[in-house]
Amino acid sequence: MKIFTFTFTFKFKPGILRTTMIILSGGTGTPKLIDGLRNLLPDEEITVIVNTGEDIWSSEVFITPDIDTVLYLFAGILDKTRWWSIIGDTYNTYHQMKELGLSEILMLGDRDRAVNLARTDMLKKGMTLTEATADISKSFGIRAAIIPMSDDVITSMIETPRGQMHFQEFWVTHKGTPDILSFEYRGIGEARLSPAAKVALEKEDCVIIGPSNPMTSIGPILALPEIKEILKTKKVIAVSPIIGNEAVSGPAGKLMAAKGLDVSSKSVAALYKDFIDVFVYDIRDGVLNPEDIEKMGIKAVALDTMMTDEERRTELAREILKLFNLLSV
Ligand code: GDP
Repeated sequence: MKIFTFTFTFKFKPGILRTTMIILSGGTGTPKLIDGLRNLLPDEEITVIVNTGEDIWSSEVFITPDIDTVLYLFAGILDKTRWWSIIGDTYNTYHQMKELGLSEILMLGDRDRAVNLARTDMLKKGMTLTEATADISKSFGIRAAIIPMSDDVITSMIETPRGQMHFQEFWVTHKGTPDILSFEYRGIGEARLSPAAKVALEKEDCVIIGPSNPMTSIGPILALPEIKEILKTKKVIAVSPIIGNEAVSGPAGKLMAAKGLDVSSKSVAALYKDFIDVFVYDIRDGVLNPEDIEKMGIKAVALDTMMTDEERRTELAREILKLFNLLSV
């Protein structure tokens, strides 16, 4: 484990010491935590490195769902009942496209589609995904840094008895019902960490691995070259998306089982053990024995991780900042 010495200057929010927090994120669990963090840290001191393994082309539009969720969160327009899409968006184009017989894989709202069309146009003009994301962030007046994990195309593909399919086809079209034989991050062999993500990671000390799917959200980020080595030099706190033997939501459990893993927080900690310092698991987890985590050389901390409302999201974020020794009170 690493020894950390921080030299911080006081920031304007009372009681909080200054640093930029890096968060590795997917599109549901971690954005909830970021929502809480935003009540404690100024946005410009938050950098989010976002999974792109669920990106997909649909009806000529390049959709990067996890980045969009994080963008809309910081823009203050995210639908926080679903944790995707823009609040109050309309679906006229989606329904018209369906009527025209197009296979709309994702249910894209009209405003959401406008953002994705703008992004697609930028990419077609030769911008990288990092540049396009920065451009869209600027248009929304976002002060946090939102960085795709990579500018290369990485696609989570699921092997099922019905054949191989994109993760979105598995999860959205088939509602996660097919058995999973295996899955892969197609393109990972040739992919690089986004240069902007690398710079941000090298510059900062504190990293949160949020409670995102360890297989399809955090897994692709960690599969990129260099990142694990960089994380070994940081203070890293991970939050479990699993309580007992079940994911709080989504297909994480099914995907973990397909990899031959027990669906448990212990398995999640084992995946991250080489580079995390603290593992946060839920106070309701009756299965986890914290000693198993401590044996991996990781500090185990039980917290209320069920982020069902803003107060709970903020409380969890506050406890995590305390663990980083970032709160002076
Ligand atoms: P995706 O990109 O939409 O798949 O979303 P993520 O990977 O970011 O988040 C999905 C994971 O978040 C699931 O594995 C859930 O178990 C986890 N999750 C969602 N809400 C919560 C919560 O309130 N607390 C915890 N601990 N995990 C959560």
